[in-house]
Amino acid sequence: MKEVLSEAIEKWGVNANLWVFMEEIGELTKEISKAIRYKPNYDRISEEVADVEIAIELVKIIFNLDQKRIEEIKRHKIERLMKRLEGLE
Ligand SMILES: [Mg+2]
Repeated sequence: MKEVLSEAIEKWGVNANLWVFMEEIGELTKEISKAIRYKPNYDRISEEVADVEIAIELVKIIFNLDQKRIEEIKRHKIERLMKRLEGLE
């Protein structure tokens, strides 16, 4: 996947691909909003989640983010959430 996304960044540039990310976030937001107001369309939500996951990969490549650091931050945040759920924080 990384090779294809890197090619897209090379072909259309950083800004165009960052716009793609923002548009995809907007589309998922809209689908979630429709799920709250009406009823969830699981297929549409799955499609938009897939788009956002791909777009997040684009962002990681563009900003050269360290996956190990992201995992570390996620682990810390999940641990904090667990503590909150247990009423320790
Ligand atoms: Mg989309």
